[in-house]
Amino acid sequence: MSSEPSRDRRKAPATPSLQREITERLLLSALDEADAVERAETSLAHSEFLARAAGLVGMSLNSSVTRDAVAAVSLPILGTWSIVDLVEADGSISRLPMIHPEPLKQALLRELGQNWTPQDDDPFGVPAIRQELTPHLIADDVDVVLERAAHSPLNLELLRGLGIGSLLTIPMVSSGRLLGAVTFVSDKSHQPYSPDEVRLAQDLANRNAEALEHARLYTEAMLLREQAELATLNKLRFLANISHDLRTPLNSIIGYVELIGEEIHGPVTPAQQDDLARIRLNQAHLMELVNDLLAFVQAGTPRVNQIVPLNGHEAIARAVALIDNSMSRKSLHYVHEATDPDIVALGDQERVSQILVNLLANAVKFTARGGEITTTCVVDADHVFMHVRDTGIGIDADKLEEIFEPFVQVDGAHPVGDGVGLGLAISRDLARSMHGDLTVESARGRGSCFTLVLPRVKASSQA
Ligand code: ADP
Repeated sequence: MSSEPSRDRRKAPATPSLQREITERLLLSALDEADAVERAETSLAHSEFLARAAGLVGMSLNSSVTRDAVAAVSLPILGTWSIVDLVEADGSISRLPMIHPEPLKQALLRELGQNWTPQDDDPFGVPAIRQELTPHLIADDVDVVLERAAHSPLNLELLRGLGIGSLLTIPMVSSGRLLGAVTFVSDKSHQPYSPDEVRLAQDLANRNAEALEHARLYTEAMLLREQAELATLNKLRFLANISHDLRTPLNSIIGYVELIGEEIHGPVTPAQQDDLARIRLNQAHLMELVNDLLAFVQAGTPRVNQIVPLNGHEAIARAVALIDNSMSRKSLHYVHEATDPDIVALGDQERVSQILVNLLANAVKFTARGGEITTTCVVDADHVFMHVRDTGIGIDADKLEEIFEPFVQVDGAHPVGDGVGLGLAISRDLARSMHGDLTVESARGRGSCFTLVLPRVKASSQA
């Protein structure tokens, strides 16, 4: 710009009218530049203010702390304060405590807050923006508006004492849901809101909405967690009681089995001795389960005792022997697929048996009469895989991980009162304590295949 006049001077002497024109243009451009600087400064100040305000309202996830921070948000304009109304879960409107920067007016607001509740036909606040969800400005006839909104002569007197110039209501919306509204209230001395100030007000309301929504979600999640923890605690208490109660009759069962086995009440046939042996095995297994339940309830993790090399096929056969009766009762067809007979895994014999019995018992439980259960044992370089496959009801893809959580039973899959949903949780813990794992592949209606993975002992390292 500054080069223009000198260029003109070289060509011809400036006439007075040309000089005036040049001066005007110089002045105008200077004013433009001053405007641009002011706009940039305003925008910078607004951004800084917004960042500070957002930091304050987003500081906590605690609902009441967030509400306090939201209540204190106002525009950086002298004498401006705000009225924050929230739409509660039941649709009612509640008003947060109002805060005024000047102590005298704060006293008026405190008194006003005691009896001034939002109503459905208020001319500003939530009722004014509920339909359109757009900013709503009242800058004219403010006194008439205050008369409509006061709801009592005392409130009107207090409102008039505040010297209100205009009311700008901005909705607070998150994910399309109206959370409430902020009404920025300006002092009578303040000019009408500039577009920049309205934009800042909108940004502030958006930040408020975001912080309120985060706090709401957080509170909801905390509540759900508390409920789940309480439910788990109740189940644990219940389990601790029943596992104590179960041990007494279990001890007496084994006592009577021994009496019969020793033929104290008369001779016992070899077939009956066989049956008694099965009863002993099952009683011991049941006792082990009850003890595990108690251990789990008390400590959370069951114990692994002695890790030894064990033959994979034999481990499966031992577990199957414990539940072959229940398989035949349901007319289930059982197949063990033969592979290399010398597969050796590392594990605690009792625990491996317990896991396999649990998998087999589930296969029996969740497979309809006439279905098929297949076991097999295979290896890769470092692992032994013991598979228990069934042709039962299967498990939905989204539940495949969940079923390993304590007390999880898939809805509708379970016969009422059968099991408590601990078997797989305990089994996976046990498998992992033996440096292995327990995994599943399944699809609803397509059967399931559970796999116990254990470390492998290779032929060379056994020698
Ligand atoms: P429980 O059998 O006592 O319910 P588990 O922890 O053993 O407890 O099993 C948890 C849930 O996993 C079962 O309630 C069932 O919903 C599902 N589940 C386990 N095994 C099978 C299976 N073979 N087929 C279908 N669903 C199964």
